[in-house]
Amino acid sequence: YSGKSETQLLTDNLKKIIVKDYQSIPVVVGDSISVYDAICTMFLEDVGTLFVVDKESILKGVLSRKDLLRASIGKQELTSIPVNIIMTRMPNVTMCTKEDLLIDVAKRLIDKQIDAVPVVKETEKGYEVTGRITKTNIAKAFVALADDGI
Ligand code: ADP
Repeated sequence: YSGKSETQLLTDNLKKIIVKDYQSIPVVVGDSISVYDAICTMFLEDVGTLFVVDKESILKGVLSRKDLLRASIGKQELTSIPVNIIMTRMPNVTMCTKEDLLIDVAKRLIDKQIDAVPVVKETEKGYEVTGRITKTNIAKAFVALADDGI
C-alpha cells in the first residue's frame, strides 16, 4: 500500500493526462472568407469554433457561434463581410500545445469563459494550428478517469 489517499491518486492520474491524447482535428478557414461562408463551414463541419488562418496556415483568429450570430444581426450583406473584421484576433487568442496538461487547458477555458482552444506549434512565421481542445474533449477525459477504476 502506497499510503496515498484516493484523492492523491486521482490527482496523480489527472496530471498525467496531456492534450495530445485527447485533442480533435481542428477546423480552419482562411482569413478572407466571408461571414456567410464561415457559417456554412460551421454547420457542415459540425463544430462550434472555427480557427482562422492565413495562406501559410498561421493562426490569425478565432470565430465562435456567437461571433457569427452577432455579425448576422441587422441588414449587412453577410457574403461581403470578411471574417477577419469580426473574429477575435491574435495576440488575444488563448492557445495550448500538445504537451500541455489537459487540466491546465480546462482552467484556461474556465478563466477566459471560452469553449475551445487551438492546439498550436510555434514556427518562425507564427503559430501553426495542429489540433483543437473543446469542453467535449475535457468531458471525455473526465469520464476516462472514472472508467480507470479510480
Ligand atoms: P460563444 O461566443 O458561441 O458563446 P465562446 O464562449 O467560445 O463561444 O466564445 C466567446 C468569445 O470568446 C467569442 O467572441 C470568441 O471569439 C472568443 N473566443 C473563443 N475561443 C477563444 C480563444 N481560444 N481565445 C480567445 N478568444 C476566444
